[in-house]
Amino acid sequence: MLNEKMRKLGTKRSTIRELFEYGKSLRRERGDDAVFDYSLGNPSVAPPKKVDEVLTKLIKDCSPTLLHGYTSAEGDIEVRSRIADYIRTSFGANADPSLIYMTAGAAAALSAVLGAVVTEGESVITPAPYFPEYKVFVEACGANLVPVLTRADFRPDIDAIAKAIDKTTAAIIINSPNNPTGVVYPKEDIAALAGLLKDKSEEFGKTIYLISDEPYRELVYDGIEVPFVPNFYKNTVVCYSYSKSLSIPGDRIGYAFVSPDMADADTVFRTICGAGRALGYVCAPSLLQRLVAECCGISSDIGIYKKNRDTLYSALTEYGYEMARPDGAFYLFVRSLCPDAKEFSLAARKYGLLLVPSDDFGCPGYVRIAYCQSPDMIERSLIAFRMLAEEFKNTL
Ligand code: PLP
Repeated sequence: MLNEKMRKLGTKRSTIRELFEYGKSLRRERGDDAVFDYSLGNPSVAPPKKVDEVLTKLIKDCSPTLLHGYTSAEGDIEVRSRIADYIRTSFGANADPSLIYMTAGAAAALSAVLGAVVTEGESVITPAPYFPEYKVFVEACGANLVPVLTRADFRPDIDAIAKAIDKTTAAIIINSPNNPTGVVYPKEDIAALAGLLKDKSEEFGKTIYLISDEPYRELVYDGIEVPFVPNFYKNTVVCYSYSKSLSIPGDRIGYAFVSPDMADADTVFRTICGAGRALGYVCAPSLLQRLVAECCGISSDIGIYKKNRDTLYSALTEYGYEMARPDGAFYLFVRSLCPDAKEFSLAARKYGLLLVPSDDFGCPGYVRIAYCQSPDMIERSLIAFRMLAEEFKNTL
């Protein structure tokens, strides 16, 4: 008998993927220039030059059996040492190569970490709006995702999180810079959350883990600082990805980092390895591991994303749309011009605009715009946004 839960997951694509596929058929129908696809966070900015240079050198100089062979399940120890060095020097944090687990991107890191720290019947809290796949990963552990709405400025509502924590709470997932809002959580929010988790862990007599999902760490504008979460709360696991920083999402590489300051760090790490093993992750792609060891801390040209943010933010505000001005990542979270965001997203299609309705992000009434697109497409799409606003003018 087929697994019904998995059949449903595989049959109904995520709303984001659904819209992306629809975009492909719309392009065939109307032509490339008539479609403004803001659905997927697939970077359009080329990877940094260094990515090509390192890959070329690796292919030229490295033994093919080493380059394409299995590594240790946790990842190559030299690669993990380079990453630990980077974390130590960049964030002034303790880091130990033996507590870094190389993964096929943040999605794999999140799945393995959740598999380790969450058991059946427990719950995981996340500020909403949230990345929709969290629900899939948490439910795969037989646990329950508990979204807690953020404040109006999309920063975490610490009091509301305090109320939501109970004896079933195993972990909290945060994501800053945030998908879908672009908001970067300031130090005081991380410190407040850390204080809360310390108190609640004591109250319930167990560790409540903090999972910091960080695929957008380097994608911030105007010199804004992204606090390093383990420096605030020792029971943190960072799930990092190179997908967005290096514009290589299809290559699938990232890691889970267990803070050495964590009580039982070694046991937690081994449990993450066990969860990864149970999920069928043999080792992260070997070639990519060796690539990222040479590329810690570098990123694609974020000047293009900043330009896109500025173009869209000022034009859309002028046309009457409302949104938070993002400090990072490459998303705008825009209030829908009618109560039902799905209806609004459908109306936008008429103008070739593909905007993701926010219902699956746990925060109805908005649409997400992924502006990691070419500046040219963004400029050409402005007229479509203006026409869409005109259509809904009387409802504003
Ligand atoms: N977490 C967030 C918040 C994301 O936006 C994404 C991808 O868009 C992921 C995790 C998964 O990233 P990866 O490609 O590294 O698996």
